[in-house]
Amino acid sequence: MSERPPGLDAAGIVAAVVRPEICALSAYTTASAEGMIKLDAMENPFPLPDAVRGRLGAALAQVAINRYPDIPADRVKRALVDAFGIPDTLGLMLGNGSDELIQLITLALARPGAAMLAPEPSFVMYRLNAIHAGMRFVGVPLASDFGLDRDAMLAAVERERPALTFLAYPNNPTGNLFSGDDVAAIVRASPGLVVVDEAYAAFADASFLPRIAEFPNLLVLRTLSKVGMAGIRLGYAIAAPEWMAQLNKLRAPYNVNAFTQAAAVALLADAGWMADQAATIRAERGRVAVALARLPGVTVFETQTNFLLARVPEADLLYDGLRQRRILVKNVHSWHPLLANCLRITVGTPRENDALLTALNALLAGR
Ligand SMILES: *Cc1c(COP(=O)(O)O)cnc(C)c1O
Repeated sequence: MSERPPGLDAAGIVAAVVRPEICALSAYTTASAEGMIKLDAMENPFPLPDAVRGRLGAALAQVAINRYPDIPADRVKRALVDAFGIPDTLGLMLGNGSDELIQLITLALARPGAAMLAPEPSFVMYRLNAIHAGMRFVGVPLASDFGLDRDAMLAAVERERPALTFLAYPNNPTGNLFSGDDVAAIVRASPGLVVVDEAYAAFADASFLPRIAEFPNLLVLRTLSKVGMAGIRLGYAIAAPEWMAQLNKLRAPYNVNAFTQAAAVALLADAGWMADQAATIRAERGRVAVALARLPGVTVFETQTNFLLARVPEADLLYDGLRQRRILVKNVHSWHPLLANCLRITVGTPRENDALLTALNALLAGR
């Protein structure tokens, strides 16, 4: 065995042994939101109703933290099946947020040389996980109206034969819902697995969940994050049981901790509060969209999510101006040419939304 060359410090050893594509990445960070109105991360802005909070507290007090979490997590799965009408015959897998499921799915399908396909701009974690797993990422630009470029997507399917395709339905960061016909055509044409990521299902008018049985290569991904439970980190994947049998082998045995399991069961025992809050967010979304569209130089795009994408005169300036007024949104201007001068604004409480509109009004009037 040869010795390590002398004189290398940690940075030198890191550079010599860590994969260069990992060294080239920057770690995921979020802007500090201390004391700010937080409209940057698609969180539900409402606190839990008191009755639900009480149920949650009682459930968490009973958690046996000296024991490992339940592995089949059957109570959580039953709660999800009941709350969201998941067909019993399908496979269901839980993740530490849907982010973890994206990672496991990518790992499972990253055969040497295999391609991952996704439209762009879309959820950044798809491309990032391709890099992590050593998979070749193929991005196909969306059409100028943010719809899928169906011909370009189908051509990429033919050319690349992707093992894995991600379609966010509705899409993040654009907010729109792709044509269901286009999605179905891509699933039919694809030789590999197609993941339809429905993180925003609660705010959308369509879903592929009822259609999974039609497609042997379709997996639907969901999460509790956008409906008021981002903090507990619970995502779930639904597909034919054959897919889950393989994906389960990659899952860390205790990936969903005991607190998350107990919380999910308590929170989903009555899902009415979730539907009520989602309905309020949808109504606010409509009100804010109309008000934003009246501002000078602002274009608001059609959305089926809990956020609005708006093109503004100068995104960098407005982003900074909002920050100075203690309002945090997401400036996606530099993410993709199609997003030039765009801000992504999460729908907040009525008061938060009013504060946003007042601030934007003042900033745009002062130009
Ligand atoms: C927010 C989001 C997720 C991540 O969800 P978690 O369950 O919080 O990891 C996944 N996909 C899309 C498209 C999202 O916008």
